[in-house]
Amino acid sequence: MTAPALELKNVAKTYRVRQGLFGKPKPLKAVNDVSLTLRKGEVLGLVGESGCGKSTLAKILLGLEPPTAGEVLVDGQAIIGQDRLALARRIQPIFQDPYSSLNPRKTIADIVSLPLRVHSIGDAKSRDKAVRETLELVGLPARVLNTYPSQMSGGQRQRVAIARALIMRPEIIICDEPTSALDVSVQSQILNLLNALRAEFGLAYLFISHDLAVVEHLATRVAVMYLGRIVEEADVADLFDAPRHPYTRALLNSVLTPEPGLGIPDTQLGAAYPNPINPPSGCHFHPRCPFATDHCKAQAPRAVPRAGGHVECHLHDPQSPMYRADFTV
Ligand code: SF4
Repeated sequence: MTAPALELKNVAKTYRVRQGLFGKPKPLKAVNDVSLTLRKGEVLGLVGESGCGKSTLAKILLGLEPPTAGEVLVDGQAIIGQDRLALARRIQPIFQDPYSSLNPRKTIADIVSLPLRVHSIGDAKSRDKAVRETLELVGLPARVLNTYPSQMSGGQRQRVAIARALIMRPEIIICDEPTSALDVSVQSQILNLLNALRAEFGLAYLFISHDLAVVEHLATRVAVMYLGRIVEEADVADLFDAPRHPYTRALLNSVLTPEPGLGIPDTQLGAAYPNPINPPSGCHFHPRCPFATDHCKAQAPRAVPRAGGHVECHLHDPQSPMYRADFTV
């Protein structure tokens, strides 16, 4: 059996955070015992509210932050101890904001060719050829080569960011909210482009988003994150047709804020998102859950298998006193 493109095994990231000037540092579990698998050519959507740990997870996968515990494997090999440059050849990021992720003082040719120069790949002539070919792949004409990011639209800048990620021909792309800073009319063009590139090059995407509509458009599987944990994971059709976790249901019902880029869904759950330094006892979701009982406050739910993944909720656990075989949210 071939190894998955990317695998996370019980990955955790804990920061020590001081509250107030004289407060004692307390642990903040940004990522809490996360296990995920991204198969080759697959798009795994990772959704959740702002502050749930999605971006910390992206930094761990890109080798920008070491995990506190657990293991990250690329093609079956642990990334700890691997050369950063070698890892960057296989995993590339596309970030949310093309305005700030591109150097405003560099031309598009310089920006897109940078990974080739950093990795000492080819000479000036072959790099120029690769840049032109890659720009064509992302739908940009060669005349943009000597222009600057400030001379381009938001959608064009995100195409440049995609070209920069693609020029190394990576196997995995970590897409961190790649369309949320763009106008709605441009979003679908970028999503269609990402989809076409995935099909052409067999890329695997971890697609991080607060927007379930975007995830439904692109992903084959979805993982829902809450306070650092994956509370539900399922094949995309199953998750949208039959969400099991009450938080997934709330996200599906959520109303997005009209301001592009802010990207915090109004989950209409009543209680505010908890402070991760003082997470609620038992099931972390219990203060916001309409089905919570005293059992939920006392006991954290375990992961129970479901189609294409798992769900963490007592209502779906045959070993829990709260189990309801016929429960749907
Ligand atoms: Fe709600 Fe309890 Fe399920 Fe947590 S375990 S999601 S509080 S019903």
